[in-house]
Amino acid sequence: MSAMAQSDLVQSDVRVSTFVAVPRKMLIGGQWVEAASGKTFPTYNPATGEALADVAEGDKEDIDRAVRAARQAFPAWSSLPPALRSKMLWRLGDLIEENLEELAQLETLDNGKPLSAARAFDIPFTADHFRYMAGWATKIEGASIPLSLAPGGSFHAYTLREPVGVVGQIVPWNFPLVMAAWKIAPALAAGCTVVLKPAEQTPLTALRLGELIQEAGFPAGVVNIVPGFGETAGAALAAHPDVDKVAFTGSTEVGKLIVQAAAGNLKKVTLELGGKSPNIIFRDADLEQAIPQAAGAIFFNQGEICTAGSRLFVEHAVFDRVVEGVAERAKAIRLGPGMDPETEMGPLVSAEQLTRVCDYLESGLAEGAEAVAGGRKQDGKGYFVEPTVLVNTNPGMKVVREEIFGPVVTVMPFKDADDIAALSNETVYGLAAAVWTRDISKAHRLASALQSGNVWVNCYNAFDNALPFGGYKQSGWGRELGREGVEQYTQTKTVCVKL
Ligand code: NAP
Ligand code: MG
Repeated sequence: MSAMAQSDLVQSDVRVSTFVAVPRKMLIGGQWVEAASGKTFPTYNPATGEALADVAEGDKEDIDRAVRAARQAFPAWSSLPPALRSKMLWRLGDLIEENLEELAQLETLDNGKPLSAARAFDIPFTADHFRYMAGWATKIEGASIPLSLAPGGSFHAYTLREPVGVVGQIVPWNFPLVMAAWKIAPALAAGCTVVLKPAEQTPLTALRLGELIQEAGFPAGVVNIVPGFGETAGAALAAHPDVDKVAFTGSTEVGKLIVQAAAGNLKKVTLELGGKSPNIIFRDADLEQAIPQAAGAIFFNQGEICTAGSRLFVEHAVFDRVVEGVAERAKAIRLGPGMDPETEMGPLVSAEQLTRVCDYLESGLAEGAEAVAGGRKQDGKGYFVEPTVLVNTNPGMKVVREEIFGPVVTVMPFKDADDIAALSNETVYGLAAAVWTRDISKAHRLASALQSGNVWVNCYNAFDNALPFGGYKQSGWGRELGREGVEQYTQTKTVCVKL
């Protein structure tokens, strides 16, 4: 493993080694520029802990410049014929696909995820997302509305859906390119202009995306990309008085800071936050499907996914069988550097995240949980944690209550359909949930009872660009993807005309 890790860059595509060889600048007003301060910061390869590239460190001054550029670009961009915006978005989707291998390797080196996953999921999904949103650019419509109350005479009333304006977008490190796409694509389809701040841990694919955005023909200033830290660049963007909306994906804790920062000019806010999603397996489920997919629900992307099926609930009668099956899967997962083609699960994104997850493991074991698979970090370099299955847990434990954002699942038995909804809803989060059963009435009844923005039945992490995605409770405000995703970048104007 370590030989491979050291040779990560040597093994990579020449376009990738060239890209990381020079300090990467930020994109403001169509120009690649250094930070006003001249500062840079390193991004790391989590498989080795070694520095991977230097990146311009944006802060308040750079955010100011980027917001000015986005404001300047807004009138022309928002009044462009929608078909032209659509064409550029589609072209960008094609360019992402053409550069799939380079983007996949860049994502793997920066984030740690297996190259196979970046190739099969992250990059194709990103390309498809731009093309899906390209379709919406020409379909954003108002309505003509008949009036009943207006006295005397006839009226013509209608609504216009207009772009919100300049939007600030702040994204996390777990799906760096996908998250950037989910933010940028609907905003551009709606006619907004953008300032994006990628996560400090994983800025590289967003910066490469900036080059492709230029190649696709988007005018200068329509998309500005300012890498930097959350407390400086991110906070300045969220608080900026000339930003009309802020869209954020990340932790619930930072989401609350975004809301406070946005209060100054009451900018619109949408939030995609954390989760502690219940995955519920009934005794009548197809266990051949449910067991491997329960493992996939928590171990996909190293567990660093907001929809991770981190609380697995299993009906008493099949509890032992499911625990055994998931544990067996966990033990069989090949942990290694993402660039190794054999790897099934990569390292966590950072030393900080490694510590966080290990602290949770310690706390769980100290409170009496038992690890039937994993339970430890891996020795040597890189930020590797074993896929972990915890039993003997109860709803009072930190590992059951809090989002771990790592490859750790707690498995708990339940009696029947009557107690499981309440047990599942016992969380401040409400992002995703899944139900495994052959009884369709039970499935639909539970789908209705679960306080969750997304419910999967007999599947898990079934995403589609056409399906609205977002959270109930403290998992967020608003929706991404689908029609709702693009509508969140518009506002409604009602026009009433006395004829
Ligand atoms: P995070 O600390 O909340 O960071 C997310 C983004 O916010 C990063 O770009 C970060 O910048 C920035 N940020 C940090 N402090 C800020 C501040 N005071 N003002 C403005 N921006 C600030 O979350 P993370 O640890 O990177 O990501 C993991 C979390 O995200 C998990 O809790 C997970 O559930 C959640 N998540 C949710 C979804 C979803 O769709 N619901 C998707 C993915 C992740 P820096 O990184 O540069 O500091
Ligand atoms: Mg990195």
